[in-house]
Amino acid sequence: MQLNDPLLLRTSAYVDGRWEAADDGASFAVTDPASGEKIGEVPQMGARETARAILAADAALPGWRAKTAKERAALLRRWFELIVAHSDDLATLITAECGKPLAEAKGEVAYGAAFVEWFAEEAKRAYGETIPPVAGDKRLLTIKQPIGVCAAITPWNFPLAMITRKVAPAIAAGCTVVIKPAEQTPLTALALARLAHEAGLPPGVVNVVTGDPVAIGGELTASPVVRHLSFTGSTEVGRLLMAQCAPTIKKLSLELGGNAPFIVFDDADLDAAVDGLIVAKYRNTGQTCVCANRVLVQSGVYEEFAAKLAAKVAALKVGPGSEPGVVQGPLIDAAGLAKVEAHLADAVAHGARVLTGGKRHARGGTFFEPTVLAGVTHRMLVAREETFGPVAPLFAFDTEAQAIEMANATEFGLAAYFYSRDVGRVFRVGEALEYGMVGVNTGLISNEVAPFGGVKQSGIGREGSKYGLEEYLEIKYLCLAV
Ligand code: ADP
Repeated sequence: MQLNDPLLLRTSAYVDGRWEAADDGASFAVTDPASGEKIGEVPQMGARETARAILAADAALPGWRAKTAKERAALLRRWFELIVAHSDDLATLITAECGKPLAEAKGEVAYGAAFVEWFAEEAKRAYGETIPPVAGDKRLLTIKQPIGVCAAITPWNFPLAMITRKVAPAIAAGCTVVIKPAEQTPLTALALARLAHEAGLPPGVVNVVTGDPVAIGGELTASPVVRHLSFTGSTEVGRLLMAQCAPTIKKLSLELGGNAPFIVFDDADLDAAVDGLIVAKYRNTGQTCVCANRVLVQSGVYEEFAAKLAAKVAALKVGPGSEPGVVQGPLIDAAGLAKVEAHLADAVAHGARVLTGGKRHARGGTFFEPTVLAGVTHRMLVAREETFGPVAPLFAFDTEAQAIEMANATEFGLAAYFYSRDVGRVFRVGEALEYGMVGVNTGLISNEVAPFGGVKQSGIGREGSKYGLEEYLEIKYLCLAV
């Protein structure tokens, strides 16, 4: 791995503006999922180092929240510009530690940087309000104040964007943050910290602690100083962290698992639906929480859609993300591969047909063939669980009501997609889907100006958009006698 700026490859964690090792000097290796090769080494920290990071964030808080929004915005803007200026190196790091194709990694840098730009702008619009009083001798108003020290625990599938989507609104609002990146992808997080340092963010405003998830997470959730936890990851871990935050009544933003339906109605533009599904299903090799997990196709167009899809999926180039032309990288690790294989074996055992793919890729390692399954039913594991891999299972349905019922038959509610050219149906189905986000005739919905988040067991709160800032603000009500 070759970087233009070697200083972006860090081997220490970032606490209180300093680069630090673990107290006992322990470290762990970061590997490239495409080759299994070691690409870096970072500190294996635990509760003690985390407690120090929380202290640093707490100490930095008064000075940081006292700055005007315009002053904070100027520093965020500088951070944004540095991220953009180092896009190539950041993309190289993302591809090296998470495996996604370089073009996708560059897309992630642009997407992730956009949150910093957006919240630098939004910081200046944390408006309060005046409220018409109920008595002549009173004046009522609200102001918005930063919630305090925040914790961010982030996943490996978007090593950069999941950090900026949390940290940018937090620090724009006047909060300070302790970040725990995923153990698979700490290098991008530390490179971001390096650029935050260079941008002139004061010590303690942003801290990155790498190491043991249970110990670090335990300290972050138990601390009464930490007032907010933002987590993106599995519903299972989200549930656990929520319980751990209960004793100190922290505010929570949770972006958890999904089980996204992708519905193709018989009036859809089938070619557009195939292209939309390729984006929604196979992006990051199927490893995003908004990836289509269940493809519901109306009976009249089922065979035609399946054939068109299988032909396109069979042509997707698989390989290391750094190789030109590759659009499907490896799965993140052996556990990810095992889950995909288990879902596939279960579906086939219950009668599903493999239209293309269906096994480990000849490249070895954690590479898997992009797969399309037909004849899938609700009895199969793929109907209930997030596969998080390049497998598109095709279910058949007959009526609109049936499609809605099937789509909503899950405890998850993050993203849903559907293709239809009937404007009445677009509104009916868009409103009936129990999801936080719905893509209509598109497979790509995420951007910094729109609210990202789920309902049901997919999470709490919204990230990005004007609502993303609110997660990090408290409303204070002032009642004045005049
Ligand atoms: P995934 O299955 O995508 O790896 P996880 O929910 O396991 O999702 O991981 C998301 C983030 O949560 C990672 O940063 C991981 O280290 C962290 N994590 C996992 N388990 C715990 C835990 N018990 N306490 C705190 N953080 C955890």
